[in-house]
Amino acid sequence: MKNLNFDNDLRECTLCEHRCGVDRTAGDLGVCRMAGPLVASRTLHPAPPESYTIFMAGCNFKCLGCQNWTISQFPDNRMPIEGYVEPRSLAEESIRMLESAPGVLMRADRVFFSGGEPTIHLPFIESFMAEARRIRPELKVNFDTNGFMTENSLRRVLSFTTSLTFDLKAYYDDTMRAITGAPVEPVLRNAEIVGRNAPDKLWEYRIVAIPGINEDDIEPLCRFLASISKELPVAFLAFRPNFVLDEHLGAPIQLMHRCVEQAKAVGLKNVTYAGMTNIPGKMGTLLEEVAEAYARPGAKLAASYARSKGCITHPRDCANCQSMSNCPIKKYIPWRNC
Ligand code: SF4
Ligand code: SF4
Repeated sequence: MKNLNFDNDLRECTLCEHRCGVDRTAGDLGVCRMAGPLVASRTLHPAPPESYTIFMAGCNFKCLGCQNWTISQFPDNRMPIEGYVEPRSLAEESIRMLESAPGVLMRADRVFFSGGEPTIHLPFIESFMAEARRIRPELKVNFDTNGFMTENSLRRVLSFTTSLTFDLKAYYDDTMRAITGAPVEPVLRNAEIVGRNAPDKLWEYRIVAIPGINEDDIEPLCRFLASISKELPVAFLAFRPNFVLDEHLGAPIQLMHRCVEQAKAVGLKNVTYAGMTNIPGKMGTLLEEVAEAYARPGAKLAASYARSKGCITHPRDCANCQSMSNCPIKKYIPWRNC
C-alpha cells in the first residue's frame, strides 16, 4: 500500500460499525475486504448533483441488489479497477475536470465520492480534501454513503462535506440484514443525526424500492423521517434487477407511486421518485431453511435469494460469518445488469 500518512486509522480499523479492528496496513482484511484506498473509476457525471464522480473500490455491505456490484464487491469478484491514485494528483485532476469545457457545460459543481462505500477510505478522502481545498478553498464535495459509519466517522465527514446523499435500505432489522448483511440500528441513528443536526448538508435520503422485499419498510421509514422533520428531502429509486437479485422483478410504476403517497401521507413535503420501472422478472422462491430466521416476508424472500447463491449465515451477519474470506455472495457474477 502506498502513501501511508493515513495509516493510523487503518491499523486497527473502526471506520465503520463493523468495527473489525484489523490492521489493514499489514494486509489484514475486515468485512470490506479492502486494505488500502483504490479508485475504481472516475468520470464527469450528469446525475444531480452534477459532478466529477470518484467511485472508490470496495464496500462494507453485500447488498443483494447492488447496482455497482463490479465496484462494491471488489476485490473478490476480480473485476478490473483503476487502482491507487495519489490524493494530490486526484485533487488536481478533479478541479481540472470541473473547470473543463464538458464539466462547465454539464454544470458540474462538485466532486462526488461514491463507491462502493467511501467511508472505508475516509482517511484517503480527507487527504484529498486537504489537497483540493489548498488549490480551491471553496471546492464543493458530496459524500454518498450507506450510512453505516461510526459516529466519529460521521462527524469527520460532516466537517468537510458540502452535501450528503444517504441511502436507506430498510427500516426493520431483519429486512436490513437480509438485504445487506448488516444491522439497521447504526444507519437509522446516523440518518437521525444528519436530519437533526445537519439538514442543510443533506442532498437527499435515497430509498431503493424493491418489490416484495422492502415494501413493508417504506411506510415506517417515512414515519421515522417525518418524525425528525417533514422538510427532509427523500428520493425513491426504482429497483432494477441486478447482482444476486438478477432474476427478480423490477419495481412496477404503481409501487413508486405508492411510495410517494405513503411519504406524503405522513407529512413529508419534499419527495420525488426516479428510475426505470416495470423491468420484467419474477418473485423468487421462499426457502424454508432460512425463512424461520426472519420475521417479515420480504426479509425471508431476500434471504432465500442469498441462500440460493451460497450465503450460510442467517440472519445474515457478515461481521460474524465463517465465510467472510470466501464469501460466495461477493464472488457472484450476475447473468444480467439492468
Ligand atoms: S468493514 Fe469497516 S471497520 Fe471493517 S475493515 Fe472495513 S472499514 Fe474497517
Ligand atoms: S456468506 Fe457470510 S459473509 Fe457472505 S453474505 Fe452471507 S453472511 Fe455475509
